[in-house]
Amino acid sequence: MNKKTVTSTYTLSLSFDPYAGQAEIITGENIMTMYYINQDQTNNPGYHHEVHTREHAEELHIQRKYFLGFFPNEVEAVQVGKRIYSDADGCAVCCPRAHRG
Ligand SMILES: [Zn+2]
Repeated sequence: MNKKTVTSTYTLSLSFDPYAGQAEIITGENIMTMYYINQDQTNNPGYHHEVHTREHAEELHIQRKYFLGFFPNEVEAVQVGKRIYSDADGCAVCCPRAHRG
């Protein structure tokens, strides 16, 4: 995926209400998943700001989270997360391809 794709998905997310209850949207052939970044970096072994899917963030009862947007995969979600927290890392459970630990 190139940078242009990241920018366009990020813009798309801004037109959505993150609390509308929709965890996924389908654009063309891509399923876009909703991602959040945990604003409490102390609640994981590596002390990173971790990126989660909406589903997993709710499962973990994360209280302080920032809506990142809809992305086709966790790698792109973490790239955008790094603009907010430079130490952003993918959750080992729901974002394994972006997890560095
Ligand atoms: Zn997770």
